[in-house]
Amino acid sequence: MPSRLITSIILQTLETNVRFAQNLTDFVAGVQNIHKAEARRETERATSAAGNVGAAQDPGKFVFRFGGGTADGSAGMRELLGGKGANLAEMCNLGLPVPPGFTITTDVCSAFYAHGRNFPEGLETQVKGALAFIGKTVGAKFGDAENPLLVSVRSGARASMPGMMDTVLNLGLNDATVEALSVKSGDRRFAYDSYRRFIQMYSDVVLGVPHHVFEDILENYKKLQGFERDTDMSAADWQTVIGKYKDAVETELGQAFPQDIHQQLWGAIGAVFSSWNTPRAATYRRLQNIPDEWGTAVNVQAMVFGNLGTTSATGVAFTRNPSTGENQLYGEFLVNAQGEDVVAGIRTPQNITEAARIAAGSDEPSLEALMPDTFAEFRAVCNRLEAHYRDMQDIEFTIQEGKLWLLQTRSGKRTLPASLKIGVEMAEAGVISREEAVARIDPLQLDQLLHPTIDPDAEKTVIAVGLAASPGAACGEIVFDPDEAAKLKSEGRTVILVRSETSPDDINGMDAAAGILTSRGGMTSHAAVVARGWGRPCISGASSVRIDYAKGEMTAGGHTLKAGDIITIDGSTGEVILGEAKVRQPEVTGDFAKLMGWADGMRRMKIRANAETPRDAAQAREFGAEGIGLCRTEHMFFEGERIVAMREMIMAGDEAGRRTALAKILPMQRQDFVELFEIMAGFPVTIRLLDPPLHEFLPHDDAEIAEMAVATGIDAGKLKARVAQLTESNPMLGHRGCRLAITYPEIAEMQARAIFEAAIETGAKTGQTVALEIMVPLVAMKTELDILRDRIVKVANDVAAEKGVRPQYQIGTMIELPRAALQAGKIAETAEFFSFGTNDLTQTAFGLSRDDAASFLGQYTAKGVLKHDPFVTLDQEGVGELVAIAAERGRSTRPKIKLGICGEHGGDPASIAFCEGLGLDYVSCSPYRVPVARLAAAQATLSARK
Ligand code: ADP
Ligand code: MG
Ligand code: MG
Repeated sequence: MPSRLITSIILQTLETNVRFAQNLTDFVAGVQNIHKAEARRETERATSAAGNVGAAQDPGKFVFRFGGGTADGSAGMRELLGGKGANLAEMCNLGLPVPPGFTITTDVCSAFYAHGRNFPEGLETQVKGALAFIGKTVGAKFGDAENPLLVSVRSGARASMPGMMDTVLNLGLNDATVEALSVKSGDRRFAYDSYRRFIQMYSDVVLGVPHHVFEDILENYKKLQGFERDTDMSAADWQTVIGKYKDAVETELGQAFPQDIHQQLWGAIGAVFSSWNTPRAATYRRLQNIPDEWGTAVNVQAMVFGNLGTTSATGVAFTRNPSTGENQLYGEFLVNAQGEDVVAGIRTPQNITEAARIAAGSDEPSLEALMPDTFAEFRAVCNRLEAHYRDMQDIEFTIQEGKLWLLQTRSGKRTLPASLKIGVEMAEAGVISREEAVARIDPLQLDQLLHPTIDPDAEKTVIAVGLAASPGAACGEIVFDPDEAAKLKSEGRTVILVRSETSPDDINGMDAAAGILTSRGGMTSHAAVVARGWGRPCISGASSVRIDYAKGEMTAGGHTLKAGDIITIDGSTGEVILGEAKVRQPEVTGDFAKLMGWADGMRRMKIRANAETPRDAAQAREFGAEGIGLCRTEHMFFEGERIVAMREMIMAGDEAGRRTALAKILPMQRQDFVELFEIMAGFPVTIRLLDPPLHEFLPHDDAEIAEMAVATGIDAGKLKARVAQLTESNPMLGHRGCRLAITYPEIAEMQARAIFEAAIETGAKTGQTVALEIMVPLVAMKTELDILRDRIVKVANDVAAEKGVRPQYQIGTMIELPRAALQAGKIAETAEFFSFGTNDLTQTAFGLSRDDAASFLGQYTAKGVLKHDPFVTLDQEGVGELVAIAAERGRSTRPKIKLGICGEHGGDPASIAFCEGLGLDYVSCSPYRVPVARLAAAQATLSARK
């Protein structure tokens, strides 16, 4: 085991230890010793505040039973029962084989935290009753010396948090009941195997004894005996090991392993509630935007045993392939195993179906071949569950001596291609509506398909092949340590995280990595599940990759690679490629195109792109953009000879000199517009006049200045002086935007001329031209716009007179200053459209420079001062209010004024929904975001309709 992992486990368990030392007795005593009335009031408050299903229930009902064909709960009660509990209840209601159990509600979790981690009054009695119910249903009794009931204690939050919360299995075992279990099952080895698993899990999860302590004991014992596998261990061997385990617990804690099964139970319940607040759970919530207040439910359920010999097994299955979406049962299982064995990546699991086994080229028999009857029953259950939930299900099951038991079902996490395929197929089969299919896709996930994939024809050196666990190509530096990955990412580097396997402690580093490669684990390993959920390319189980953490290197296919070396991983094929592989641009085709077509039919707002180069414009059209919402013209001054003319203009002493230089730029700029207009023919194009401060066009260091002096023949000293003169300490608020055009109107005139002439030229050439929108940036006052409007109109008249064709156009402004938003009513007397420049509007509303914000904005979001980075998701409360005010005042002057947004927020689904609420006409975003915006806008229309 890598030392870092050990350290983190120790740290984590140390923390648990502290928590536990102070709470071990509390957990147990807490039941009797609570703030009774207070806890009750609190729970009542929490329940009624929930204002949902909970409110309809008796506020004193903390425990919901399921089993024996009925349940107190149902699928609709996930807020109160958590996803797992609600679905266990639902499966019982459907008459499916579920081991009986009960769910302690999320309200109890809230009350637990509100009262210093104490349980509310009445809980103990209800739990006792529910335990008796389980016992009666299965014909056993908790703690019974002949027929002991064993249970699992499982967490279950509202939103699924795979691997984040802790589960304890085989609870109820002690020195006496293990003997009873041995006699009852007739399998002594099984009984002691279960007991050692329990001690290990309970000690780790509840008592905070690091699990490597147990691993070391077991490894040493096996080595001493010459055993290779756990299956070599006999009952007597396990008994010896259990003795050592118990000694270790006593050494670690100064207290014996609890033999009192009630103490075990309450300890486990408290630990599940407490696990809601472990750092790894908190990190997962932060990454997934799950509110901290939700809390978790606790499920206590009769154990069924997948480790009861060769006719027993445990497994995980998806009703459709979670990677491709193919309508085929897909899953993995292990014979004679328990619980997390399948997903832990310790043994490589077997395929459930024959088809999958053959496809994987595996020699290990499938469940279909091994237990045909149980498999047939399982397949039928899968079909039933999918039809019932009308969605692909992720199902956990156990087979005990040939009998099937269901332990969990939920909507399965899937890749985006799978989401699209499943959505389209279910809608076409009439299982769900097209609106539902559209609503189910996370727009942000589309990002995955909008990025390059490896060109299948490209030359590449494949050094290893693993499982194609999560599709997409990623290329970056090898990094072996998750913390290092996070650090490098923050420095702007692109990394591939390479691990033998991942654990929930690694998620920070996994989040930072562009791709993940593991040498162990299956399709349902931690790495695979998390990566798929995040749409991160991932290869798991690339067993030919050897990783040496100590040396900081990996070997594969005869190559030795160090941390920092470049590899490419293709999560769609499982190929690990040496160096940087040639990649291909994405396209919108197949299911993706079909679903986007449906979405287009549902949305109200138009989607435009922020684009200025022909290449971006063409890409935007390909992704379905309906025009350009922001064409920044400054780039047109930078390329090739233009920068020379531009600098000449800046250095000119008078207007005549400037006009001479601008005349050189005019034909080039016109040609740029011609190309753009041809691509966007028939669509609107909003062109922003020159915006940045002029010093951006000048050289900055001495070498560059010297070079420029040679090129222009201007004295270097004079150049330096001019640079110094133009330098601004906060250029974002300086001489830029329309302020440039007010002081140097000839720049705006040249641009207007280039635009009009280009429009007439394309019109003559193609018979069709764009709907021109000339946009004046950084307007604070109506007068600014008036002055520039007059200039632009005059150029239009001149061009019309010269060419004999009158250009069609509108003149509008960007609303990016708070003053402009407030004065929008007046500005709209002149402006024919507003485009909300929400990047600058955010800066100016917050008084916060985007370029300087990085140093402290992270702290703001971490400390909860801000919920989101306001440059990513529009600050609806403040900046949004300015937008709303401007929209309203603008419309009151000019009812049909065209309104759009062109900041980064134009590609952010939450901000898009906000724009829908204000009834904006369009959003404009970067070309690669266009499909995201199309889908998000459709969803915004759908939910606004509700
Ligand atoms: P997670 O939320 O991490 O998936 P679970 O509560 O589902 O955790 O538990 C993990 C695994 O433990 C299950 O998939 C199942 O294999 C096993 N398990 C849980 N409860 C039982 C039980 N009552 N009988 C047998 N196995 C169980
Ligand atoms: Mg589970
Ligand atoms: Mg701006």
